Amino acid sequence: MDGGSSSALRIVWLYPDLLSTYGDRGNLLILVRRAQVRGLAVEAIEVRSDQAVPADGDIYLLGGGEDGPQALAAQRLAADGGLHRAIDRGAAVLAICAGYQLLGRSFFAKGAKYPGLELLDLDSDRGPSRAVGELVGEPDPALGLPTITGFENHGGRTHLGPGVRPLARVSAGIGNDGTTEGAWRDKIVGTYMHGPALARNPALADLVLGWATGAQLTPVDDTWPGRLRSERLGAVRTG
Ligand code: GLN
Repeated sequence: MDGGSSSALRIVWLYPDLLSTYGDRGNLLILVRRAQVRGLAVEAIEVRSDQAVPADGDIYLLGGGEDGPQALAAQRLAADGGLHRAIDRGAAVLAICAGYQLLGRSFFAKGAKYPGLELLDLDSDRGPSRAVGELVGEPDPALGLPTITGFENHGGRTHLGPGVRPLARVSAGIGNDGTTEGAWRDKIVGTYMHGPALARNPALADLVLGWATGAQLTPVDDTWPGRLRSERLGAVRTG
């Protein structure tokens, strides 16, 4: 964690009024819980789209959203600049679906092209159909994660540039383009997975917590997340 006014881990949930679909707020709850069971003090900060984005957070979370709210969120985050300053300070970011698309260079919403925040080397356009259903992938070995599982619902398709690596290779569903899913660089990760993503992928939660704290995290009891993962992954195999 970076200095700052408090020693607590500061987790910032951005724009819940615009970006929070399919239970994405659960990502905040999971991070808070998994930090607390490790004995870490945590401060959860919800920042609405009419409020300034604090630059002194340790982790920033963005959720999914409909096209209109997504375009508005991108505009306000660009004008605010707080997220860019936080990333320059070394903050970690987890962004879901609309939140993921708007971190890129450009995205489509309501038939028009919008500029993104240029925090990830990627562009999103529109696909031939809506991608709806279970999403499963084998993660980039560099991340040391097990199979990822999530629920996707998006019209966009995302094309990665050389400045990012795919989060995973798709084994079921569409993700970015039917071949790769999500993207990451440094301490920023974006994904199409709702579910919420961190309830289904506790190892991804710990990856983000590890990025933010620099600490080796002790194992926790993952019996219930394990059951959820087995049930969801089993549903895809037999579906
Ligand atoms: N509006 C975006 C799309 O349809 C993102 C949707 C979402 O966040 N679920 O591609």
